[in-house]
Amino acid sequence: METLLKGKKIVLMGVVNKSSIAWGCATAMKKCGAEIIYTYQNDRVKKQLDKLIDPTELTVQCDVSNDEEVATTFAEIHAKVGNIDGVVHSIAFAPKEALEGEITEAPRDSFKVAHDVSSFSLIAVAREARKYMNEGGSITTLTYIGSSRAVNNYNIMGLAKASLEAAVRYLAVDLAKQDIRVNAVSSGAIKTLASSGIKGFRDLLDEAAERTPANKQVTIEEVGNTVAFLMSDLSTGLTGDLIYVDKGTHLS
Ligand code: NAD
Repeated sequence: METLLKGKKIVLMGVVNKSSIAWGCATAMKKCGAEIIYTYQNDRVKKQLDKLIDPTELTVQCDVSNDEEVATTFAEIHAKVGNIDGVVHSIAFAPKEALEGEITEAPRDSFKVAHDVSSFSLIAVAREARKYMNEGGSITTLTYIGSSRAVNNYNIMGLAKASLEAAVRYLAVDLAKQDIRVNAVSSGAIKTLASSGIKGFRDLLDEAAERTPANKQVTIEEVGNTVAFLMSDLSTGLTGDLIYVDKGTHLS
């Protein structure tokens, strides 16, 4: 396990604090010997990130809603560490009013923002990352079952996740030319900064745990372990795929 990702340079996008799913990915991938390059949304997030990581680790700003910034981020990473082997995209955002009540009440702008930051960003990231990726590289994003089921209050984010999952399939076809794999991990519900924005999220957590065969919630470490596997050469047979890491919530 300690050598699974030895020699691999992986860009990790989306750590904001130690509850972040991306932080579970960082922990798992570091255990497997990966070198991690962290990207952060803005200065406020950087302050939080700096508290978690070693000062010698590379961090680069990347607001994924800005194409130019995505381009300069990956160029800067390449200038500092050379080619990369993987990217973990653990980013989503929707305005609060898009995550409550009935979907008919959702403002048009919230649809645009949610799809831009939570779905198109994967395409923008893949476009720049592929310029600097080694053959055999891997890109993984995080999604949620609200893409295929009507989950209370998830609303517009459910649509954005459906779009994200479609983007994974199209990207998998395009990037196969470079032998780069693109997959999604569908995580069970976990309390994080982003998920706290969903109205009634506490009930969603309880309900998700009740629906698992073992009556347990999945952890960020468990999600991180699957992401580490997808970054590794053990998963070369998978692309355009979606893996549920939710303790079986999706079964019922
Ligand atoms: P989180 O709040 O810890 O992470 C969300 C991250 O998105 C933050 O680091 C934030 O800075 C980043 N972000 C938002 N807008 C951005 C932008 N414009 N540019 C760059 N970064 C931006 O929450 P999380 O729950 O760990 O979310 C990570 C991913 O996991 C998301 O895609 C989320 O939808 C997905 N997910 C979460 C759950 C859950 O229950 N928490 C379940 C399934 C999937």
